[in-house]
Amino acid sequence: MKAIRRFTVRTVLPAPLRGLEELVLNLRWSWHHETLDVFRSVDPELWDLVRHDPVRLLGEVSPERLAQLSQDRRFLRRLQDAIEDLHEYLGSPRWYQGLDAAARPASIAYFSPEYGITAALPQYSGGLGILAGDHLKTASDLGVPIIGVGLLYRHGYFSQSLSPDGWQLERYPTFDPNGLPLTLLREPDGTPVRVTIGLPQGRDLHAQVWLAQVGRVPQLLLDSDVEDNDPAARDITDRLYGGGGDHRLLQEMLLGIGGVRAIRAYCRISGHPAPEVFHTNEGHAGFLGLERIRELVSEQGLSFDESLESVRAGTVFTTHTPVPAGIDRFPRELISKYFGGVNEERDVPVDRVLALGAEDYPDGDRTVFNMAVMGMRLAQRVNGVSELHGEVSREMFGGLWGGFDTGDVPIGFVTNGVHPGTWVAREVLELAEREVPALVETGQGWADVRKVPEGEMWRVRGVLRGRLVREARRRLRESWRQRGASAAEISWIDDALDPEVLTIGFARRVPSYKRLTLMMQDPDRLKELLLHPTRPVQIVIAGKAHPADEGGKRLIQEIVRFADAEDVRHRIVFLPDYDMALGQSLVQGCDVWMNNPLRPLEACGTSGMKSALNGGLNLSIRDGWWDEWYDGQNGWAIPSADGLSAPERRDALEAAALYELIEDHVSVTFYDRNGSDLPRHWLEMVKHTIATLGPKVLAPRMLHDYVQGYYAPAAASARAMSGDGHAGARSLAAWKQRVLKAWPSVAVEHVESSGEESPHVGARLTVRVVVDLGGLDPDDVAVEVAYGRVDDSDVLIEPSYVDLDGAERFEDGRLRYVGDVPLGRSGSFGYNVRVVPRNRMLASQAEMGLIALPPAPHGMTNGDLR
Ligand SMILES: *Cc1c(COP(=O)(O)O)cnc(C)c1O
Repeated sequence: MKAIRRFTVRTVLPAPLRGLEELVLNLRWSWHHETLDVFRSVDPELWDLVRHDPVRLLGEVSPERLAQLSQDRRFLRRLQDAIEDLHEYLGSPRWYQGLDAAARPASIAYFSPEYGITAALPQYSGGLGILAGDHLKTASDLGVPIIGVGLLYRHGYFSQSLSPDGWQLERYPTFDPNGLPLTLLREPDGTPVRVTIGLPQGRDLHAQVWLAQVGRVPQLLLDSDVEDNDPAARDITDRLYGGGGDHRLLQEMLLGIGGVRAIRAYCRISGHPAPEVFHTNEGHAGFLGLERIRELVSEQGLSFDESLESVRAGTVFTTHTPVPAGIDRFPRELISKYFGGVNEERDVPVDRVLALGAEDYPDGDRTVFNMAVMGMRLAQRVNGVSELHGEVSREMFGGLWGGFDTGDVPIGFVTNGVHPGTWVAREVLELAEREVPALVETGQGWADVRKVPEGEMWRVRGVLRGRLVREARRRLRESWRQRGASAAEISWIDDALDPEVLTIGFARRVPSYKRLTLMMQDPDRLKELLLHPTRPVQIVIAGKAHPADEGGKRLIQEIVRFADAEDVRHRIVFLPDYDMALGQSLVQGCDVWMNNPLRPLEACGTSGMKSALNGGLNLSIRDGWWDEWYDGQNGWAIPSADGLSAPERRDALEAAALYELIEDHVSVTFYDRNGSDLPRHWLEMVKHTIATLGPKVLAPRMLHDYVQGYYAPAAASARAMSGDGHAGARSLAAWKQRVLKAWPSVAVEHVESSGEESPHVGARLTVRVVVDLGGLDPDDVAVEVAYGRVDDSDVLIEPSYVDLDGAERFEDGRLRYVGDVPLGRSGSFGYNVRVVPRNRMLASQAEMGLIALPPAPHGMTNGDLR
């Protein structure tokens, strides 16, 4: 009989062991080996059985064992040490506390639809969530006062298994929050906090709020599964990325609007300072800006436009994908249905909401509401997640700043990073502590990695490879059994994979751009590589396809069928249910991390960074982070045929290049051993990789970039808006209105220059411009010369800008501007002139998307400057 309800009965720990509960409830254990050791010693066998999940451990450990432990002095001492260590970690000042107190934000809210903190809290589907988890953990390590906000999905994403013929099967286990390391957020009187948002037809959506403690960082997770909700509303937080349309929109309303309300409740109850900056991790949480506008209009008496300025100033938006299907878009009618009618907020008119998400630019789709576009209109600061992705995003969203060159589009980048405590193998950390202690203590002196003895390094790599092989066999057995194989049929698994063979890892979600099956373009060629008599390779593969993605499931099936074949199955395996635990084994144990996306569709990618930190070498298409940091010696770049439009041809070319690289370079280097059986050149590459990539790929570098480049400036802007009774917001909104109204009359009427008769390097060009400011003041604008090299069609390449000044006013109100441009280098040269709005409260010249250029492109070009 099936149970109609299930719940988790929490163990009552004997008094001397109460500290275990405190340890479990702070997720710092997920990256703290000493705390994990304490859990392990509670019951080592059970620890493995519960797959290193401490909540399950405490739920299942026997009362006899607990009684025994409460008498065990050594255990109690270790427990006490672990607790003291946690208190010390939580209480001591960290990097952030050393920054200028006046400049650093009091707190920052971070919104994300998914979080990967630990395999025991499966609330993530892939890179976006893992990044969010690493962001919170690193913020905790550095003392950055972030509050994380998300949803608690009753069934998480899904867990993956395989049918006998290799088809992906999905299971949706139910997670009882009481069986997770969470506590319910309660009012001081003990009643659970309720967050409520309005729905059409007078319905209400309620949510409770779970609190996860990620080291120093509180994380609030909204959960609609409460009794006051009707059954449909209870299911809103059922699955991550489960439904479409209404369901998805409701999740995002709860995340954005409900999330802000949850923060207000949390700050009221805990005394935590209110966030000055709101960071929107991808578009899903974008409605948070609407809620903050509503707060300002209804509580502070600002107008919608004034509130918008205030909200924008304190908002950072990070875009994560150049794949159109990865961007959230809703039919406009759906937005009207949920934000209009009786549910329309008086202070947030539905037409204003619709305008924020409108694709009202050339090539835009007028019927949709785009969450990323809304995110960018609600945030003064926007970034992509690698240098290349920043470029691609400026291209992709350039329409929002029409008239500006792509290079001027105000989207920057912060390249992602990974949290060392989570991803670096303990053995690697311990090796570093032994051999390069100064590096571990200070984070400085990466070059010293080169001094680590090669034998030691190779030994650790062997330990990690061996552990992966054992773990792969265990998972393979489990999968074959589950697919219906008998014990006799799986005896071969005892010898599947080889702890001495070059091991290539390939694990990722399975959207088509990641090309799971590129390696199978030529199955015979692949077979040759796997079965090479002296230089074999083995490949470990993992990945989940989105449940609605039939194409992705076909790719998985293709791989599984290939890997099932008797002649290769000991050299290539597909391991189901890619999660953080499997990810850790893979990035730690693989010698090579392979990645072959369709360039430039991988925004950043982070799994290769994890591998690099563990001494793996990357073999990858130059996309995302690898485009930025591949240096010719830290791995291999698979040549990309990204100019080619025929996809089959492109795949064939790139696959051929991949085979060649593996055969002629990767495996040759791996198997080239010296007298002590060490691959000298390989280990040199490993050392070079760690020494040069280490400081870049670590998430603390990423957090520094966000704090210094985004959070602190956003807090400064937000203070400039809100200070003095919101005078800044009022004046900026009024100024923008005035500029917008006048702009159609702003014109560059005449441009002339002198000095180009005999141009030579070192000379100066004097530019004179007559402009009509349409009634605006000279202070409202910048009149600039753009100058520099030009290409064959006279387009300026990465121009420099110089301000023209000395405005001279004519009788009719027009103005003359003058200035000098240096001719700094020889070769083709050109210039143009532009007028743009100027206000010190704008974060970029392009912010308003307004620009005035001379009627016909004026400017000189000259083929040979001397
Ligand atoms: C790191 C990680 C990812 C993201 O890696 P990509 O390189 O972006 O594919 C996805 N899933 C898991 C389990 C991870 O650990």
